[in-house]
Amino acid sequence: MKRVFNFSAGPAVLPEEVLKRAAEEMLDWHASGMCVMEMSHRGKEFISMCEQAEADLRELLDIPSSYKVLFLQGGATLQFGMVPMNLLRGKKSADYVHTGEWAKKAIKEAKIFCNVNLAASSEDGGFSYVPEQSKWKLNPDAAYVHITSNETIGGVEYHWVPETGKVPLVADMSSNLLSRPVDVRRYGLIYAGAQKNFGPAGLTVVIVREDLLGQTLPATPTMLDYKVHADAGSMSNTPPTYAIYIAGLVFQGLKSMGGVAQMEKLNIAKADLLYQFLDGSRFFRSPVRRQDRSRMNIPFTLADAAKDEEFLKGAKQRGMVQLKGHRSVGGMRASIYNAMPIEGVRALVDYMREFEAKHA
Ligand SMILES: *Cc1c(COP(=O)(O)O)cnc(C)c1O
Repeated sequence: MKRVFNFSAGPAVLPEEVLKRAAEEMLDWHASGMCVMEMSHRGKEFISMCEQAEADLRELLDIPSSYKVLFLQGGATLQFGMVPMNLLRGKKSADYVHTGEWAKKAIKEAKIFCNVNLAASSEDGGFSYVPEQSKWKLNPDAAYVHITSNETIGGVEYHWVPETGKVPLVADMSSNLLSRPVDVRRYGLIYAGAQKNFGPAGLTVVIVREDLLGQTLPATPTMLDYKVHADAGSMSNTPPTYAIYIAGLVFQGLKSMGGVAQMEKLNIAKADLLYQFLDGSRFFRSPVRRQDRSRMNIPFTLADAAKDEEFLKGAKQRGMVQLKGHRSVGGMRASIYNAMPIEGVRALVDYMREFEAKHA
């Protein structure tokens, strides 16, 4: 067996120890005689595992008790609709900051439910930066302010938390949750699909301030009401049991390696390695403004796009896959989530250096 360095943007690399542990426990979880997939979600085995996963996530992110943690399905994409359905709370308008492809999708969906005030946009710069807060035009009467804390496709990340006063801040953290500490108290709601940074597809984590719940739009389906899930401990119907199990193992691994502060240090080291190379290179370049560069998703272009295919082929031969950029932006993209070892980034930089020497 040979594992590759997988630079996929998602579903993405998972920690090898987690996959091994899952393999060991596949037929018999903790002497239950069952695979986790075969367990009742109402049985004591699964409930204890799910409670542990929530407790570990709360500890990792220092989530206050006034916030609910929900394990949902439907992906981050369903949250684009669930957020307005639940958080408009009688208001007619919400503020959105447009920073790229994912913000765009969130805005489009929100428009089904309310007036969207575009508080700021980086469209003028090809979504290569995060607009400074001093340029935002916030509506004091907005139901909430929505941001995309890391644009997975454009590789643009907030390295600061916006100030929104009494208006709740909502963040799509699908591609950077658990990559760094986050001050949950600054947010009304945080959501993230698991398949980028902490688990398999099928699980979406929502962290929401309790006082925001219970005022959904009329005709909101039961399953799209956060309060229903909050009151039922995410067991209103069958939750994505196996995905919760894997995410729980990822949380345990994070805790034992020192938590998100330690993970952040590693992520900075990995990202620095690649950005320093890009900045010194005359063949490769990063399109993103320096202070807004993502630590998780690093797009880059070759001076000669005609060499893209050759670059990808050579990478594959060296065991590095999924480096092709998103179809909407082209070029390359290296996603270096928590589970990407620094050796993977080193191998990529070594290969890029070699490629440049040959072609520049
Ligand atoms: C991947 C992604 C989504 C969409 O996630 P799905 O699980 O496919 O719905 C939304 N927002 C961001 C920032 C993402 O990276």
